[in-house]
Amino acid sequence: MDFRLTEEQEGIRRLVRDLVEREVKPLAAHTDETGEFPWGPLRTMAKLGLLGLNIPEEYGGAGADHVSAAIMIEEIGRGCGSTGLIVAAHLGLACGPLNRFGTEEQKRRFLVPLARGEGLGCLGLTEPGAGSDLAGGVRTFAEKRGDSWVINGSKMWLTNGAEAKTAILLCRTDKAGGSRSLSQIIVPTDTPGITFGKPERKMGLHGSHTYAVSLENVTVPLENLLGREGFGLHQTLETLDGGRIGIAALSVGLAQAAFEAAVAYAKERKTFGKAIAEHQAIQEKIANMATAIEAARWLVYRAAWARDQGLPYTRLAAQAKLFATEMAEKVCYDAIQIHGGYGYSREYPVERIYRDNRLMAIGEGTSEIQRIVIARAVLGER
Ligand SMILES: Cc1cc2nc3c(=O)[nH]c(=O)nc-3n(C[C@H](O)[C@H](O)[C@H](O)COP(=O)(O)OP(=O)(O)OC[C@H]3O[C@@H](n4cnc5c(N)ncnc54)[C@H](O)[C@@H]3O)c2cc1C
Repeated sequence: MDFRLTEEQEGIRRLVRDLVEREVKPLAAHTDETGEFPWGPLRTMAKLGLLGLNIPEEYGGAGADHVSAAIMIEEIGRGCGSTGLIVAAHLGLACGPLNRFGTEEQKRRFLVPLARGEGLGCLGLTEPGAGSDLAGGVRTFAEKRGDSWVINGSKMWLTNGAEAKTAILLCRTDKAGGSRSLSQIIVPTDTPGITFGKPERKMGLHGSHTYAVSLENVTVPLENLLGREGFGLHQTLETLDGGRIGIAALSVGLAQAAFEAAVAYAKERKTFGKAIAEHQAIQEKIANMATAIEAARWLVYRAAWARDQGLPYTRLAAQAKLFATEMAEKVCYDAIQIHGGYGYSREYPVERIYRDNRLMAIGEGTSEIQRIVIARAVLGER
């Protein structure tokens, strides 16, 4: 058993860390305060091939493995949660299913531009009445008319929505209902009938815009069906398995950033005549944080590695997401605690990181849903 990363994986970490230190981290506070979409760093990432990192070269990507992609998201998250989520959603929720389920023609048309970073992608599952329960809740309906799908309904919370070039929408295609009544359909976001609302006002992740969208007679060719008709739920669950590794990696990056800030502060701040790092209570927190981050990191890499090996990874991805996102919540909490009152101030990054991380235990399946996935796997139900 070898617990070292490969030369290539280490090289990707160095490349991304360098870019993040130069372009992402310095912009993070500004992105949070203004809500401006971080196009600058995203353009640099596109040039470096990072927006298609784990997509095969023949489809415009860099052909790296899923462990490398997890490392990249972790490193971006270490610099800025918003930028990390934009990339994680683009790569995991849009490029991922196009690569996995797309036909050759669909890959050429829709995946290649996304993997080259010529546009962003997004995935629309959630609706006003459908979040954890997609099978029962999705009302957006795609009707076959002649050689087209005509889509009517609404979606909520689309990460990258209005900034994206291509959306994959989960639609009901059979009014009879049931788990075989949903399908994924590829929809260019400039198709007439699509109306995005204003970006939602959120607790954190201000630079990652999230949209409600209404769909009125949105018409796309029948050949925009992604994968198999009636298999949209299965394809979505598989997509989320991959996406969850990305969210878990993002939480590891956020926790790492909060941890580094806390360690630096603990060495500087003095109380009772010595640096607070010399107080045993602070040392205990630092030791616990370091250990929890390391454990989460390896759960994430293990899930990504299993995916690279073609092994089952549903349970591993759910475990990585559950553990990493909740671990980061605690690490960010302790990082603020170590900063005392200053941790509650916008002068220091830890309050932003805490807010940014809060989403991670909700998006792409809540912690409660991850526990259901894990328990079912353990109990052998699925
Ligand atoms: C910033 C942000 C970005 C997002 N990006 C996207 C995106 O790009 N695309 C997209 O489609 N969606 C996106 N979402 C939506 C997100 O995936 C959903 O919010 C999430 O899946 C939870 O669904 P819900 O909000 O409807 O909560 P609900 O499903 O209503 O759940 C409410 C609560 O009940 C719990 N619960 C539900 N069912 C059970 C059960 N069976 N057992 C125990 N507890 C249960 C949940 O865990 C939760 O605590 C985003 C959300 C946010 C906030």
